[in-house]
Amino acid sequence: SWLMLTGEAQVVDELKYKDPKQPISVRVKDLLSRMTLEEKIGQMTQIDRSVANANVMKSSFIGSVLSGGGSEPLPKASAEDWVNMINEFQKGALSSRLGIPMIYGIDAVHGHNNVYNATIFPHNVGLGCTRDPDLVKRIGAATALEVRATGIPYTFAPCIAVCRDPRWGRCYESYSEDTKVVREMTEIIDGLQGELPPHARKGYPYVGGKTKVAACAKHFVGDGGTTKGVNENNAVIDWHGLESIHMPAYIDSIIKGVSTVMISYSSWNGVKMHANRDLVTGFLKNNLKFKGFVISDWQGIDKITTPPGSNYTYSVQASIEAGVDMVMVPMKFDDFIQDLTLLVKSNVIPMDRIDDAVGRILLVKFTMGLFENPLADFSLVNELGSQAHRNLAREAVRKSLVLLKNGKNQNSPLLPLPKKVPKLLVAGTHADNLGYQCGGWTIKWQGFIGNTDTSGTTILSAINSTVDPSTQVVFRENPDADFLKSNKFDFAIVVVGEPPYAETAGDSTELTMLDPGPNIITNVCGAVKCVVVTITGRPIVIEPYISSIDALVAAWLPGTEGQGVTDVLFGDYGFSGKLARTWFKSVDQLPMNVGDPHYDPLFPFGFGLTSESVRDLVTRSTSASEFVRACIFTIMVTLLTSLYLIG
Ligand code: BGC
Repeated sequence: SWLMLTGEAQVVDELKYKDPKQPISVRVKDLLSRMTLEEKIGQMTQIDRSVANANVMKSSFIGSVLSGGGSEPLPKASAEDWVNMINEFQKGALSSRLGIPMIYGIDAVHGHNNVYNATIFPHNVGLGCTRDPDLVKRIGAATALEVRATGIPYTFAPCIAVCRDPRWGRCYESYSEDTKVVREMTEIIDGLQGELPPHARKGYPYVGGKTKVAACAKHFVGDGGTTKGVNENNAVIDWHGLESIHMPAYIDSIIKGVSTVMISYSSWNGVKMHANRDLVTGFLKNNLKFKGFVISDWQGIDKITTPPGSNYTYSVQASIEAGVDMVMVPMKFDDFIQDLTLLVKSNVIPMDRIDDAVGRILLVKFTMGLFENPLADFSLVNELGSQAHRNLAREAVRKSLVLLKNGKNQNSPLLPLPKKVPKLLVAGTHADNLGYQCGGWTIKWQGFIGNTDTSGTTILSAINSTVDPSTQVVFRENPDADFLKSNKFDFAIVVVGEPPYAETAGDSTELTMLDPGPNIITNVCGAVKCVVVTITGRPIVIEPYISSIDALVAAWLPGTEGQGVTDVLFGDYGFSGKLARTWFKSVDQLPMNVGDPHYDPLFPFGFGLTSESVRDLVTRSTSASEFVRACIFTIMVTLLTSLYLIG
């Protein structure tokens, strides 16, 4: 038996797919040629972590596991806990006949948002306002490190939707209503995956090693263009509209070597994207030459409209024929495996299609070095929520804030606020609530409420640590008239906005703020000079209250680093953010986007006042006084010289 063992080992050593010196195409081909149908279909199957374990991984040859929005959260799990869990699944996969590693994926859509103590960056709606692709790239790199710290090599990000209607519950996952801004922000892919090496082949996936992650451009295509912004709905739009508005960011992503593309739940002109062969195979794979793998959305194939009398097999067939390579079948994966097996065995789906799908999945796994480094260690755990990443998030917050109004008239700006006053009021539902600050897709799918689910700094605590120690800060969530009358405040900071939400739960036709937000604004701003800070995933109804507000700041969903807000409110930095969305006057105007014929917004796309930082003001006044001094000096010298000459 010793001889047999050595013999086997030698055979394994000669396996080309295990040899990192072989070209990747050779390794893919070699491995494919050794796989049974069962092993191939296993690779195409992605299951939820709650049904995964080492045995299932091995016996069903599972290719991928995920933590998705629909997954049970892992409250307060440490980075080490995550690494251990994922390694367990991985060991199961590695112990299967051919030892093909699985790839674990997670929605790290604004930092590593499912994980306790991770740095939570502003949601995309805020990042779009920074107009700073380099910043977004650095955020991508930081996110990759935090994701890898927990043993995960794959994120379902970025969302490159072009949200054309803020009534859509996912609008905050979109960088902008404007294609150009979204295109610029695909730079995040360079941060997540690493920058493409100079001679990389066009359309091929790329992941630069153990500190980078595979990215996923989603949701292909037209997710942000559905009628009235209804989630998962139909996008009624002609080819030119689709190609010019919703497609360009995919082209950029493919050029950057994005590893995967996720299909949208939505339909295009009545055809579900999960069954759209023309767009998925015809356009994405053939025309755009995308060589990574196409993944379905969570039970996305279940939502394919099926003819009467047909069953799940129809959905499996339609999606695989359309070009889906990996199917996110969180729970009922046995049905998927069984149906696809039958479809192939009965020659309905050709083996070529299966080989295309599996070849792409293996290509990504080989490219990112998963075969060489399948197991995670603890070497990166300190990256999670590191000070450097929190500083970066803070920078992102201050650059994402948009100053919409500053003073009742131009001559009386309220911002920057003084740090030293006798007494200031902080009010509002959102002033001291980390969950509200982070929005949906944070710790839980629908987000959380309060300050205990993860660590970070609320706006209130940031104010407390920013003002002069002599300044008295009074906080009332909803101060009443008596309280306001019996106090004398120098000014008030009112923080109001939307509650957290994700996906369909966020669809809204009203776009109002959380009660009693409007009353807080009118009460407080009627009694004391006020700056209103909105915490929202999109523009909301503000026009009826705008005249009572002295200064207005859109802070979007800033994440865990509330000090980014105080950095600009109190003038340590200036405001620089520009609206990446149109701010409507009333919801009857929707949809309304920049370039529309009857464009009549409250604040147009691109709007954003600047305020100078206190530092700039000081420098300018010093240089001004230096200038005056220099003038006086010159005049004196001239005078004296003339006097001398006359004399
Ligand atoms: C969302 C995707 C997400 C997936 C996994 C779906 O409901 O549409 O954006 O990546 O769940 O969580």
